[in-house]
Amino acid sequence: MAYWPTVIVATPAHSQLSHALSYACDQELAPGTLVRVPLGKRDTLGVVSSCGTELPANVQAVNVKPISEVLDGLSPLNAEWLQLMRFAAKYYQRGVGEVALAALPPELRKLDPTQLARRLKRNAKAAGEAHHGEATDAAEQVEDTSREHKHASSSSDTNATALEASPEQAHALAHIEATTQPILLFGATGSGKTEVYLQTAAKLLASSPNAQVLILVPEINLTPQLESRFSSRFAAYGVVSLHSGLTPAQRLQNWLSAHLGAARIVLGTRMAVFASMPHLRLIVVDEEHDPSYKSQEGARYSARDLAVYRSHAIAGCRVLLGSATPSLETWHATETGRYQRLAMPSRIGGAALPKLRLVDMGKQPKQTVIAPALLDAIAERAQRGEQSLLLLNRRGYAPVLSCGDCGWKSQCPHCSAHRVFHKIDRSLRCHHCGLHERVPHACPDCGNVDIQTVGRGTEQLEELLADKLAKHLRADGHALRVARLDADTTRHKGELTTQLAAMHAGEVDVLVGTQMVAKGHDFRGITLVAAINPDGALFASDFRAPERLFALLMQAAGRAGRDAVKMAQLTAQGNNGAELWVQTWHPTHPLFAALAKHDFAGFTTTELVEREAAMLPPFASQALLRADAKSQAAAQTFLNQARDAANAVAEEMGVGIYPAVPLTIARVANVERAQMLVECANRATLQKFLAQWHTTLHELRATPAGKAIIRWAIDVDPLAI
Ligand code: ADP
Ligand code: ZN
Ligand code: ZN
Repeated sequence: MAYWPTVIVATPAHSQLSHALSYACDQELAPGTLVRVPLGKRDTLGVVSSCGTELPANVQAVNVKPISEVLDGLSPLNAEWLQLMRFAAKYYQRGVGEVALAALPPELRKLDPTQLARRLKRNAKAAGEAHHGEATDAAEQVEDTSREHKHASSSSDTNATALEASPEQAHALAHIEATTQPILLFGATGSGKTEVYLQTAAKLLASSPNAQVLILVPEINLTPQLESRFSSRFAAYGVVSLHSGLTPAQRLQNWLSAHLGAARIVLGTRMAVFASMPHLRLIVVDEEHDPSYKSQEGARYSARDLAVYRSHAIAGCRVLLGSATPSLETWHATETGRYQRLAMPSRIGGAALPKLRLVDMGKQPKQTVIAPALLDAIAERAQRGEQSLLLLNRRGYAPVLSCGDCGWKSQCPHCSAHRVFHKIDRSLRCHHCGLHERVPHACPDCGNVDIQTVGRGTEQLEELLADKLAKHLRADGHALRVARLDADTTRHKGELTTQLAAMHAGEVDVLVGTQMVAKGHDFRGITLVAAINPDGALFASDFRAPERLFALLMQAAGRAGRDAVKMAQLTAQGNNGAELWVQTWHPTHPLFAALAKHDFAGFTTTELVEREAAMLPPFASQALLRADAKSQAAAQTFLNQARDAANAVAEEMGVGIYPAVPLTIARVANVERAQMLVECANRATLQKFLAQWHTTLHELRATPAGKAIIRWAIDVDPLAI
């Protein structure tokens, strides 16, 4: 008997070709079965979408090719997984084949049935060993960085058993058990959110022999602590990680473990939201506000939003979003009753949140980089053995080099951005296209040898601090140690772990860094955090800038004063408690008043009122149409034609289309980038409009205006406008 399966295959992003093609087969194939099928001249991996005994009406048998191979050693992907792929593709305006195939480990594309069978056998063996108490995959990785890593996590618990819940944790846990709605765990920094995740997960894992739990984190490398806490607590259940730092072989192995149910806990970054977990019962999204949950390429999906969708679509699956500074979207959902909000306002052990100290930069001596009072406070604390953290969101030594004689600036020849001066190797580097050159000895335009740096980055701040603090000694007689943590100092494998470990071990007195240092870390020795120059975000054009800044400052503050016992000792000795210092030219800005009170709810309520008045998200839905071209005119022409073609429909549907504009950094690597904002009060209407527009855009691509661009893409629910 002949069967005619339709198979989901990855075709180029905007191909006219359907993403589910008809093939022929002599056996019935369950939806979700992995197959290899001919596509063009080659064989490619595909996923069976459906399989019938009748050929679809619009297809002719002569045009249908047989399936090449069935990977029947592997159980099919389940209906829920297929549904997630279809939804993600539809919502984010991409092909289902592109989304589905990107969600599978790339290594899977290379294996024939024999190789796959071998793999599966090996995996089953490893899983068997794991059940005998051997290290699971994630735990193994932890052991590979073992000495340093233990260091890194020594400060926090790696308890194999649950901690006794605080009253707020107990309250949250009871509520989580009693509700099926999505939950926002709105827990202050240091309130013990992780323990709530752990105990919620433990309950679900114990409740059924198969139950699986998915934990999403923004960046896995930044939080080795979290990983080791999960691995040690749940070693017996099999913990695997899924993120882009794994080798292709590891990724395949971990993916298979989750798919086969051998791993009951998956800890991963945004891509892990697509993991095949047939018995998924809980999804945790840690630091749900973090922008890294939104993909910026390919299908521009939000892993947080997909996590909520995914849990909805599975009977009995829960979703738990956690943050001290939730996104306005999530907060709004708790206000309207779509999500439940559970608050844990207190820190574990009762430690106070840091006190805000605003430094009015208008009242400091000329050219002040670090206010004298702040320097004194840092020195004083370091002498007592307390650590400080300085935040400056700009890496390198200076963002621009400039010639005072002729006005030359270190412009990147390929981008509309300046090249940044890195003193360590005397280079000028473009942070957008990567162009890397030695600093010129003299001005390339006029020959002036006295080229000046303009502005400051972390590298310079580190140098400056080391210089200013050189005269101070610690109680043990050692000089104060200043270190830096940013993308430059953590480029090589292992560097980040080593640096975090040194910080945890108290080998660093003052740590300078970019926002990387503000994220999630459970540093126990920090008592002072300072934001050196956060003003830029106060008046930025992006409507989300204040939300981001507030979250960043609260998260940064959250790294200070986490050790309640230590803080109590300090204050008993008459020393200052934990502090957040903010250097600003605008000390009366209302954002700081809310920050001083740690009033996230108040700040957010005000922001939401403004968003509603302006009809901005979460009160409206947005999408961006983006186009890249060799010239800005070509990119904008394409966008404007796309608008003209849709104007009438848009008007009828109540969809607003704004004029095309260049991106803030318009040119990167000689490609000009433009975008156009599309907005509608109703999400479903916007979706409907976008689906129609998609067809128009395909057609437009074949016209001269369409041929003049390099690529186009739609970004649904964009995070940066
Ligand atoms: P958050 O993620 O909310 O900022 P963490 O989960 O990192 O906070 O917890 C802060 C610290 O408190 C960690 O060192 C953790 O081990 C500790 N902790 C959490 N819950 C408890 C508890 N119930 N008893 C004792 N210590 C706890
Ligand atoms: Zn010059
Ligand atoms: Zn460049």
